[in-house]
Amino acid sequence: MTATAASSSSRARSPQAYDAIIIGSGMGGLVTASQLASKGAKVLVLERYLIPGGSAGYFERSGYRFDVGASMIFGFGEQGTTNLLTRALDAVNMSLETIPDPVQIHYHLPNQLELKVHRHYEGFISELTAKFPHERQGIRRFYDECWKIFNCLNSMELLSLEEPRYLMRVFFQHPLACLGLVKYLPQNVGDIARRYIQDPELLKFIDIECYCWSVVPADLTPAINGGMVFSDRHYGGINYPKGGVGTIAQALVDGLEKAGGEIRYKARVTEIIMEGRRAVGVKLASGETLYGRRIVSNATRWDTFEKLLPPEKMPSRERRWQTRYRKSPGFLSLHMGVAADILPPNSECHHIILEDWQQMEAAQGTLFVSIPTLLDPSLAPEGYHIIHAFTPDWLESWQHLPPDEYETAKEAAAWEVVDRLEAIFPGLDAGLDYLEVGTPRTHRRFLGRDEGTYGPIPRHKLPGLLTMPFNRTAVPGLYCVGDSTFPGQGLNAVAFSGFACAHRIAVDLGL
Ligand SMILES: Cc1cc2nc3c(=O)[nH]c(=O)nc-3n(C[C@H](O)[C@H](O)[C@H](O)COP(=O)(O)OP(=O)(O)OC[C@H]3O[C@@H](n4cnc5c(N)ncnc54)[C@H](O)[C@@H]3O)c2cc1C
Repeated sequence: MTATAASSSSRARSPQAYDAIIIGSGMGGLVTASQLASKGAKVLVLERYLIPGGSAGYFERSGYRFDVGASMIFGFGEQGTTNLLTRALDAVNMSLETIPDPVQIHYHLPNQLELKVHRHYEGFISELTAKFPHERQGIRRFYDECWKIFNCLNSMELLSLEEPRYLMRVFFQHPLACLGLVKYLPQNVGDIARRYIQDPELLKFIDIECYCWSVVPADLTPAINGGMVFSDRHYGGINYPKGGVGTIAQALVDGLEKAGGEIRYKARVTEIIMEGRRAVGVKLASGETLYGRRIVSNATRWDTFEKLLPPEKMPSRERRWQTRYRKSPGFLSLHMGVAADILPPNSECHHIILEDWQQMEAAQGTLFVSIPTLLDPSLAPEGYHIIHAFTPDWLESWQHLPPDEYETAKEAAAWEVVDRLEAIFPGLDAGLDYLEVGTPRTHRRFLGRDEGTYGPIPRHKLPGLLTMPFNRTAVPGLYCVGDSTFPGQGLNAVAFSGFACAHRIAVDLGL
């Protein structure tokens, strides 16, 4: 009997218990689930790990509470429409206390280019202009154009662009904003930057401004995403949730459950069950089968279409997508507990370190640093801080190493990172209290992401966001949500995708 036939016969014995089954409790999956539950849908989230959050989860060791990944959090603003984390929590009657971060990033760049992106827009523009006085006008015009994009986005309710009645409604309510966005949709940040800026070093700076969240330079970064990030950091600002990033997922789960939704942990989905061409259910590693009217995958597209569904049956639309996008690298991550006195006074929470522009995109080139205890000291024992340092790296350098070589390689790579950090935090090595090292292998294992990837990146220059897929897939009944869908990586971006996915499903189910 084929897998499909087996699945069909088991379905015949089991009623469709759920309106929607969501595979994965990353931020994309949880926003979809909580939105649907708040609209009255019967929802089940299946999470393979022990806690919710995926890349926005946490772990605890020796009195430290470490964020797995994200810690520079957009989407917690109080006004406008782009504050999607605030809105997602509010929809299920939840809220979180957040701590405003006065500086988004302290850059430590080649040629002693030191720069801080202040929360206060004019403060940032004057600091950048002081470094590039000959580009005064270009800097202003570039970032002001990003504001135009943001203002369009921030004037309308952000829901599914696959829903024609919503599109018509927002168009009639905000015709100028919609036309503005249509204009920017096929553009990339590099196109806009080169319109106004000539200085090659300043253009490099715009590249790293993109790279630090899109992991590609400005030419490959969609203008819509750039407009969002470069403006919202000064509008809603960067705000850290008290108690750590893991509290966001936990609060969404609490809200989901209060709204009648369910979540199950240690529930790894191994197969999406098909009935003919339609996705109708899931099979768990335990062998249990569950059925729903709609199935949502919060796994990456590679995991969804190559592992949960038979790769040989991959829809041609997905094959085409794979010719346009590839997996970004994962990360080499150091989670450190350090004595508080190694941090110079007035240190900022987030740093980017790059010594050579040629290495920006190289494995272990750009080094990202987060010190969330500067905002919330409760995450570490008194007198200590957390430093999370991470740098892009490929699985292939790590995957075939036997255990002892893997451990040796991890240690060697970690000390190289510590050496680089010593340049801004002298005494770090001596002040180390705790160190845990992760590689793309770790991310693959704990986050269930193919090759431990951070997410999809364009293979070549694409027309902005035009080619990024929405939530419906070529498989009827199956939707995707999260960073493999429009508009891409980052917590606020995947929350957008969650709002859109839930909206589309609610319309499809007539909720
Ligand atoms: C090191 C690092 C730093 C980052 N820093 C930032 C930052 O500062 N700011 C920011 O906004 N973003 C940051 N990001 C990006 C951000 O964390 C991600 O884009 C976002 O969290 C992805 O959410 P998601 O819902 O798409 O998927 P994920 O977080 O990957 O969640 C998917 C979930 O699905 C589960 N799952 C997968 N397969 C199955 C299965 N078969 N069965 C059951 N469950 C399954 C996984 O266990 C996981 O919980 C960072 C990411 C990393 C890795």
